[in-house]
Amino acid sequence: MGHDSLNDYRRKRHLGQTPEPAGEGLEGSAEQPRFVVQKHRSRRLHYDLRLEMEGVLRSWAVPKGPSMDPSEKRLAINVEDHPLEYIDFEGVIPEGEYGAGQVIVWDQGSYACIGAEVDPVRAWKKGMIDFRLYGQKLRGMWLLVKLKKDENQWLLFKKQDAYATAADVTVERPESVISGFEVEEIEEGTLGTWHSRVQRLLEELQIPPRAIEGEKVRPMLATLVTQVPADSRWICELKYDGIRALAEKKTTNSVSIRAT
Ligand code: MN
Repeated sequence: MGHDSLNDYRRKRHLGQTPEPAGEGLEGSAEQPRFVVQKHRSRRLHYDLRLEMEGVLRSWAVPKGPSMDPSEKRLAINVEDHPLEYIDFEGVIPEGEYGAGQVIVWDQGSYACIGAEVDPVRAWKKGMIDFRLYGQKLRGMWLLVKLKKDENQWLLFKKQDAYATAADVTVERPESVISGFEVEEIEEGTLGTWHSRVQRLLEELQIPPRAIEGEKVRPMLATLVTQVPADSRWICELKYDGIRALAEKKTTNSVSIRAT
């Protein structure tokens, strides 16, 4: 089962030998369509921009990556559709497989078509996608315009607005928005998770594991700030409000829990 437009995707890969998803699961979301930019360190480093439409991720390979500077027009090559599950994919595509190399989720969020054509599929067919990105790094208004001379060649560039800047976002924010890893740090067997990054930091700091008395732990409380720190030493996660609980499990069957 699945989308016919994923035939190229499946034909190019040995699914089962690469950790990439087969694309048999998800249906399109009814809410605002999502986008992802993956940083892909294959034979040639590039960025893959993917826009959710028609139940798949329509994809463009952007060799130089996106630029927030409106005067920088970046070549974007329309490549095969990818399955929706690919939106969270980061890891290592094994040697010998199509696109072998490391992949991180460099940016992720939702998008909306604006201007003359608000339907993403119609905009894509017209070769002129006028859209707004709501990512963690990429924001504001963008244009993706198909070049006439070649079927697959498009240009991606930033429109002038309050988010436009000459600063190079690919240099200032190289890290994954999911794991915090930079693409060079993703290795075979490395789980691209927040927890493995924390584990690695603890090892680097040579903090030994030790028993902790739950009653004496002072919970770490959040500090309200107006801006997310951009420094790569920080790991940012969305915070859903709720109750924080500290649980202590003793060697017997007693568990004590307190909420903060
Ligand atoms: Mn790629």
